[in-house]
Amino acid sequence: MNLLQNKVALITGATRGIGKGIALSFAKNGANVAFTYASSEEKAIALEAELTSLGVKAKGYKSDAGNFAAADALVNEVVAEFGTIDILVNNAGITRDTLLMRMSEQQWDEVLNANLKSVFNLTKAVQRPMLKAKKGSIINMSSVVGVKGNAGQSNYSASKAGIIGFTKSIALELGSRNIRCNAIAPGFIETEMTGALDEKIVQQWRDSIPLKRGGTSEDVANLTLFLASDLSTYITGQCINICGGMLT
Ligand code: NAP
Repeated sequence: MNLLQNKVALITGATRGIGKGIALSFAKNGANVAFTYASSEEKAIALEAELTSLGVKAKGYKSDAGNFAAADALVNEVVAEFGTIDILVNNAGITRDTLLMRMSEQQWDEVLNANLKSVFNLTKAVQRPMLKAKKGSIINMSSVVGVKGNAGQSNYSASKAGIIGFTKSIALELGSRNIRCNAIAPGFIETEMTGALDEKIVQQWRDSIPLKRGGTSEDVANLTLFLASDLSTYITGQCINICGGMLT
């Protein structure tokens, strides 16, 4: 399939997990891919090579999505290198899980900055090339815990709920300019982020999911591809759960 032939995508946090799955899926569908990471230089170089071997242009940028000036500079660099940005996937995210009783101000700020302020930073910066091109698709990675909350994740849940409100507002602001903005709310997707969790708890989660398994990066990449492509040109302002029926 070539659903994204000649489109340019910017994906934040693509050196592993869901972001990497999205980068590979986009490249297999003909997109030129600019991606970011926080510190995994070696993984970024390897991914750049893997994407390029699929016959597209690809480049990794070390850029802190939570830093306003860095996000602005990144978008300028990507536009200079790739010509435009058709698709933005705000995927970068972190966790600092603990009960509110033990949560420090730093743990709150780090998560809100990396997960929510990053979405503001990048979306604001890509507005310029998207308005100029009179088209664009912005996809923000929320979470089912942003929809329903989760004990021990008040910082993370708040950041992911904030993403949903932001997504709907931007869809309302930019719809008339043919720029779409949607959110994805993954349930339990088995990546390095979840690999840090206790195996017994992980198995309990798998057992409680109607489809009886954790999701994969490919599952999320398939939905992201749909929202990025022209198959979804009449969908904006939505938050789509991808959770094996967990949130039902
Ligand atoms: P992951 O495996 O931990 O990967 C996170 C990626 O984000 C890495 O590439 C990391 O770069 C990058 N990153 C972190 N902070 C960054 C920053 N400030 N600036 C730029 N890049 C940054 O995470 P994942 O499990 O694939 O999750 C991806 C997204 O899906 C996150 O937003 C997460 O909240 C969301 N999500 C995940 C699940 C799940 O079950 N896995 C469920 C719901 C939602 P480095 O490699 O350099 O650190």
